[in-house]
Amino acid sequence: MTLPAPTVSQSDPQNPRILVIDDSLAIGKLVQSSIQSVVDLPVDYATSFAECERLLSENKGLYQIAVVDLNLPDAPDGQAVDLVLHNGIAAIVLTGNLDEQMHDRISGKLIVDYVIKQNPGSIETVQRCVLRTLRNMQRKVMIVDDSASFRTYLKAVLNTQRLQVLEATNGKAALLELEKMQDVALVVTDYEMPEMEGVQLTAALRSRFSSSRMAIVGLTGSDDAFLGVRFLKAGADDIVRKPFLIEEFIGRINNCMDHLDNIQTVQDQANRDYLTKLFNRRYLFNAGAAIFDKAKRGQIRLSVAMVDIDFFKKINDTYGHDIGDIAIVSLAKALSAAFKGEELVARMGGEEFCILAINPQSSLELLERLRENVAALEIPLPENGKLRMTISIGVTDTLGENLDAMINLADQALYDAKHGGRNRVVLK
Ligand code: GH3
Ligand code: MG
Ligand code: MG
Ligand code: MG
Repeated sequence: MTLPAPTVSQSDPQNPRILVIDDSLAIGKLVQSSIQSVVDLPVDYATSFAECERLLSENKGLYQIAVVDLNLPDAPDGQAVDLVLHNGIAAIVLTGNLDEQMHDRISGKLIVDYVIKQNPGSIETVQRCVLRTLRNMQRKVMIVDDSASFRTYLKAVLNTQRLQVLEATNGKAALLELEKMQDVALVVTDYEMPEMEGVQLTAALRSRFSSSRMAIVGLTGSDDAFLGVRFLKAGADDIVRKPFLIEEFIGRINNCMDHLDNIQTVQDQANRDYLTKLFNRRYLFNAGAAIFDKAKRGQIRLSVAMVDIDFFKKINDTYGHDIGDIAIVSLAKALSAAFKGEELVARMGGEEFCILAINPQSSLELLERLRENVAALEIPLPENGKLRMTISIGVTDTLGENLDAMINLADQALYDAKHGGRNRVVLK
């Protein structure tokens, strides 16, 4: 169970790329196009070690993931894998048949995973593995164990999956840390630790974080089968018995992450608008009720704004519905860029958006800047040419009877903005 020291993961490049290396054109092209069909990044293809070297130096520091053939005519002993790893790139290895000798060759390397080319579904497996790696780069995991050497080992294993790894030496320290950081997706905890043991930690975490937001994996020794049950009953999603094979541990970790993703997908389908990916009207009213209650209790200040594209019908009529959609998405992006903090931005329907701003510094100024930015936007059209548009905004920071009343008041302000000549902000 020894692994080399983890590589230092590179900081996120500005224009990340993916690289596929395989000397079989049939396989290489297939892998390249299957990845390209699901990711929004450039996917390059090299057919040899020499070409791989050339692309790596041409695009220095840009490759985040490489799908790499273990055997190339000009690199028969996995040198391409080593080169990719040496460059700090996450490596998904393509191999022929799996036997113990092959397993030994690969398992010492800090790769994401290996895929047996001949297996049916191998292309889809590569595709899933790439998506998982891109996702993992955004995810934080905490290891809770009192043994420094075991933490180092687990960190190296989790780093191969490109997860961001945090460490804590016991349950109490973990709990303190996790209360400060709300975005840890997975906790891997040992059982026996000073201050607070793993089952206690699991129970404490479950009272704070639902299983739709945080996964917990308990580590147990081989001598106590009942301990696993205690972990599960305290709210752990899975248990891994020590000692374990790396593939098994990683498989369970990734299953937990996939489960979190699936929950997120279902929640997004219910709460987000398909076109803009912003929250939808239903979510605004659900989440907005709690925000309004806080404002009513005087805990926050709340302002409500309605934003609407001017003469949008004309855009549709002139350029067609698809370009109309592009205008809506562009405005959604401008809204997301303008409100990155505690605001709730939702698409109410059509070309109309609502913003609930919590403790706004100066909502009028912010909205005025948004209006100016949108008016200055030149949206590139697919068949050349550029589209320009303006928006009108109605806003209120008078605390009403309920959220509906505040939205109505903002709507009246929007109506005034339209009748006052459009491309303006009106406060009521
Ligand atoms: P005003 O300046 O007063 O806001 O006029 P307007 O033309 O922007 O407003 P109106 O409400 O009359 O027209 C909105 C149009 O938006 C009508 C509808 O067909 C269109 N629409 C609604 N949803 C969508 C959508 O998802 N995509 C596109 N392209 N058009 C949509
Ligand atoms: Mg221990
Ligand atoms: Mg309109
Ligand atoms: Mg409208």
